[in-house]
Amino acid sequence: MALSEFELIASFFKQSGTRHDVSLGIGDDCALLECPAGSQLAVSMDTMVSGVHFPQATSPFDIGYKLAAVNLSDMAAMGADPAWATLAITLPNADEAWLRQFCKGLFTLLNEYNVQLVGGDTTRGPLTVTMQMHGFVEKGMAIKRSGAEPGDKIYVSGYLGDAALGLQSLLGQRVLAKKSLEPLLQSLNRPSPRIVLGQALLDIASAMVDVSDGLLADLTHILVASGVGASVDITKLPLSPAFTAVTTLSESWPLAAKGGDDYELCFTVPQAKEQQLLSVTSNLSCPITCIGEIKSDIAGIGCLLPSGEVELFYGGGYMHFTDEHEERSRC
Ligand code: ADP
Ligand code: MG
Repeated sequence: MALSEFELIASFFKQSGTRHDVSLGIGDDCALLECPAGSQLAVSMDTMVSGVHFPQATSPFDIGYKLAAVNLSDMAAMGADPAWATLAITLPNADEAWLRQFCKGLFTLLNEYNVQLVGGDTTRGPLTVTMQMHGFVEKGMAIKRSGAEPGDKIYVSGYLGDAALGLQSLLGQRVLAKKSLEPLLQSLNRPSPRIVLGQALLDIASAMVDVSDGLLADLTHILVASGVGASVDITKLPLSPAFTAVTTLSESWPLAAKGGDDYELCFTVPQAKEQQLLSVTSNLSCPITCIGEIKSDIAGIGCLLPSGEVELFYGGGYMHFTDEHEERSRC
């Protein structure tokens, strides 16, 4: 017999282990939560729609994993310490095998970062999953998009373009051998949230954003919020060995600069904080790369291309409401 909504919640969404700051978790009309003194609550939300944010054939484990990862990435981008999450899930039917795998992926990452699921909503309809996440950051210390100043250096974590290349291959736009594709799909489906790096940058980075819609589009958010421009040396963009093994220079840079789903951090650092940056990031497993500088005399981003030409970039990236065709064809 199919599970009722309440049986489904009890059997799948009640996590073992609890945080000391959760007075009341799943089961009542509201959760009751304790915020540490001197902290601000950082709140973010991300929705993933089947066929828009992930191809329909994506495994339920990967959907759960990525939902946690993209929300953790927003926490990382403010330097916040993640604590609690709520989940709204719309399912075509109560498929227990699907739910078991989804929860396995979701809780793998939530448990790794000590995030407790404290509530949510469960409904029937086309597959859509939404997570809201809550984290703490010391009052006044969060790293916003609006703090970049001319002269600050621009950095990015990890590698760019792997997820976009993996998606191209899944969509049949490029043929790659299974062995070449595997690490790219790992980046697409299981991005590593940069929580440790985000918190290490508190009091060092002047502005930060996570790269979800493409480096240049997300850097533009910093530039608009800060009222500045930038120069970026495209030849400096960090590319993984898996990526460079299967791309030529001319096809690699548009993917790395404009492809989505990287979930890396892009941040700016004043010259006076460069030494501090080197010392806090030298022990971290995730590499960081300087790719450019904040400028007062450029509107948008002046991109130095591998050809030696400079191209101005004024924004762009994936937009949900600009073009119906584009929305349908993202996945
Ligand atoms: P209400 O009708 O009062 O909104 P629900 O019956 O929707 O309550 O939910 C019962 C309890 O289960 C609540 O604590 C709610 O937060 C939790 N819950 C419902 N769906 C989910 C879910 N997908 N993930 C986590 N908790 C959930
Ligand atoms: Mg209620």
